[in-house]
Amino acid sequence: MTKRLGVIGYPLGHSLSPVFQQAALDALGIDARYERWETPPERLPEVVASLRQADCLGANVTVPYKEAVIPLLDELEEVARQAGAVNTIVNRGGRLSGHNTDVAGFLQALHSVGFQPRGCAALVLGAGGAARAVVLALLRERAAWVTVTNRTYHRAFRLVEELRPLAGRTVLTSIPMTFIALHQANIGWDLIVNCTVLGMPGTVDENKSPLPAEFIPEDALVFDLVYGPRPTKLLQDAAARGARTLDGLPMLVYQGAESFRLWTGLEPPLEAMMQAARQALQPVGAQGGP
Ligand code: NAP
Repeated sequence: MTKRLGVIGYPLGHSLSPVFQQAALDALGIDARYERWETPPERLPEVVASLRQADCLGANVTVPYKEAVIPLLDELEEVARQAGAVNTIVNRGGRLSGHNTDVAGFLQALHSVGFQPRGCAALVLGAGGAARAVVLALLRERAAWVTVTNRTYHRAFRLVEELRPLAGRTVLTSIPMTFIALHQANIGWDLIVNCTVLGMPGTVDENKSPLPAEFIPEDALVFDLVYGPRPTKLLQDAAARGARTLDGLPMLVYQGAESFRLWTGLEPPLEAMMQAARQALQPVGAQGGP
């Protein structure tokens, strides 16, 4: 029996997951199809229920359903519970478990460029689902400082207060965007992570950066979760300042590889996945989440 997998979101835009997940299934000769399941809100319960069928291995979940699927599942693994967000659902004999592989994907992308988050000072831009996974990852790795800022300040404040019980020795703070100059003078970030949608190709925000160039320290690593055929404005500014840069594509593939491991129990063929994602990205004008 051919197995089914897919990505649930609305709208799905040009999600790359079907491309690199199918490449992974094909590379290992697994008889399964990875599909696009664009799902309007009123159909979400029905589509999640259909994952319980014997031919279905599970699904990825993307914007806007990473929180909304939680009550529809039977169990949550620890990272998904802490993140309050699910990006991967696994069907085990009709029971659905929720996982979050964005946390591992983010850390693997950092490690792939030799960056060790332990003891670092990080600035996180944004306060949505991706920012939550990034902050959780930095706390788990024992960053020394994590500062969160966001256009809508109260969301950054709430994110920080909710994750504070997990902070341990990390100094975890939220600041309004207007205070960035003050903090930059005091701290000097080693790592800056863009978790906003600014810079997404094919949107009105394509040429915008969430951070003025003068606030980028020249010895920082600037990690933009956004990915596209060209470097974002933030990454262009960072490179011009002499900072190191990392775009969102490796994280996308690493989080997908962790999902693949959960569904199949097999070692994901990373090279095939990365190559398929890079190839597919070239002609693509717009992108969504996973
Ligand atoms: P989300 O929950 O919808 O959060 C969106 C964030 O962007 C919020 O902080 C929002 O601020 C901010 N924002 C939106 N419009 C803005 C504007 N005009 N100016 C300044 N800030 C603005 O989305 P998400 O799931 O966290 O995803 C965020 C980004 O990360 C997306 O580009 C997504 O594709 C990317 N992502 C990449 C990966 C990967 O593997 N590479 C994984 C996950 C997500 P407000 O609170 O003020 O609205």
